[in-house]
Amino acid sequence: MQLEINKYDVLIHDQVLKILENFTQYKRNAPEAGGIMIGKVIDSQINIIKLSVPTQLDRSSRTNFERSKLSAQIIIDYEFFNSGGQLIYLGEWHTHPESSPVPSNTDLKMLQNQFKNNILNTDFLILLIKGTNHIYIRIIDKDGFYEKTIKTIF
Ligand SMILES: [Zn+2]
Repeated sequence: MQLEINKYDVLIHDQVLKILENFTQYKRNAPEAGGIMIGKVIDSQINIIKLSVPTQLDRSSRTNFERSKLSAQIIIDYEFFNSGGQLIYLGEWHTHPESSPVPSNTDLKMLQNQFKNNILNTDFLILLIKGTNHIYIRIIDKDGFYEKTIKTIF
């Protein structure tokens, strides 16, 4: 799935869409899921290639997901090392139990903190939220933020 978000060209690979679909909260008691997004920038196109899936160190409920810093860092280091520095951390994903997801204040604060406090390999950071019918994407960089909501067809 390819999309333009302002000046950004984003390609979400099929295996990523499949994982998102698998964790979508269709069932009434399904907890939120989430993790980090890994990929690379090829000729200025952002390629989201891999997602980490929830680990036992994460905490989640129906309406909340808090990923473990430790497990995320292990995954980032592992992917970076095993790809010879090709695969890098691009941002965060999680699910929401709503049709068209809207980021919570906590989500936005988390993204802002990640962007400010982490040493990133990119000059942007992405937040992706998978609802039951739509995907919400926000990209932040030093100039501000850009967002888009797209319908998913499976
Ligand atoms: Zn959220």
